[in-house]
Amino acid sequence: MNLDDAVTTESMEFGHLVIDFDERVLRPRPWTAMQSRWAAELVANAPDGKVLELCSGAGHIGLLAIALEPRALVCVDLNPAACSFTRSNAARAGLTVEVRQGDLAEALALDIPARRHGGSTDDDESVTAELMRARQEIVDAGGEDTVQLSDGSTLASDLVVAAMGAVPATGWLEGSGLSLDDGVVCDQTLKTSAPGVYAAGDVARWSNPTYGTTMRLEHWTNAAEQGALAARNAINPAEATSYSSVPFFWSDWGDTRIQFVGLPDADAVEVVDGDPEGAEFLALYRRGDHVGGALSVNKPRPVMRIRTLIAQRARWSVALEYAQSLSAKSLS
Ligand SMILES: Cc1cc2nc3c(=O)[nH]c(=O)nc-3n(C[C@H](O)[C@H](O)[C@H](O)COP(=O)(O)OP(=O)(O)OC[C@H]3O[C@@H](n4cnc5c(N)ncnc54)[C@H](O)[C@@H]3O)c2cc1C
Repeated sequence: MNLDDAVTTESMEFGHLVIDFDERVLRPRPWTAMQSRWAAELVANAPDGKVLELCSGAGHIGLLAIALEPRALVCVDLNPAACSFTRSNAARAGLTVEVRQGDLAEALALDIPARRHGGSTDDDESVTAELMRARQEIVDAGGEDTVQLSDGSTLASDLVVAAMGAVPATGWLEGSGLSLDDGVVCDQTLKTSAPGVYAAGDVARWSNPTYGTTMRLEHWTNAAEQGALAARNAINPAEATSYSSVPFFWSDWGDTRIQFVGLPDADAVEVVDGDPEGAEFLALYRRGDHVGGALSVNKPRPVMRIRTLIAQRARWSVALEYAQSLSAKSLS
């Protein structure tokens, strides 16, 4: 199928589905099939109702979720090409989808209540309240348990998840001579394209020797480590050293400490200790035959060791062995 002669339609396997897309929509990332699996697990225990996927692109994540756990699916996207692909991808898979093309505020009907999954604790409530306030600033929410959308309609919600994203503020650097590409482009030593100018933190897109590729991170640890090194290199460029790093962040949500090391692009994610339904667990991310990342919830001890394993490009079996030793300890 080709929706437009000017662009080439590509296909990829996404879980057991085949998904068509082209350059007008976000390229499906194979590892996000995990999100479909997680969604399917949630849907299995969720109250009756439709599954709603916002900004759905080619529809792959929602379609795979309902292929695994049958439910009515509503996909919303502003982009007509994305909506066409969602319809054709659903038809190919023999799935039924209601596609709503348009701005979220207009396309989102009030017959789809947002529901929170799982139990309620004081922490859940305060997190919810914070999120509600954030939403309020953006679209003028109407109360503690009601979100007012930009079209004036209201939506009863137990939980609002606001994924805001971030964009590097480099507009003021345009025309300065610095090379810009989703951030300020730097070499391995954080030196920019202008002599004597170094960059660090969220804004720096640098060449990370650990991965042999450029990246830009939005984590405190990265900003602090890069700031220190960029300053040292600027003072003594003759002995400048590379910033070689495995990404790491942590975030405290009430009593829950979430930590992530490495990159989330993965061929598989395996829970190796604890239980995602409980208060603590550790999951490893496999990339090829290596460990590429780890997610820890209230299990801080192994995180730095796994960061080292990732930096050493340790084999998956080595990381698993380490994780099993932890698991054995927590059982004994
Ligand atoms: C809501 C939120 C939650 C976060 N939670 C976590 C977390 O839990 N864990 C984690 O590791 N990271 C977290 N982060 C990311 C973390 O805050 C950033 O990675 C870190 O602050 C980056 O530091 P920085 O110095 O590079 O940039 P910033 O802290 O953004 O500092 C840049 C400064 O430059 C100023 N500035 C920008 N343009 C100009 C200009 N033209 N002239 C003058 N000043 C300018 C800005 O106002 C700002 O003060 C979070 C970020 C946000 C927004």
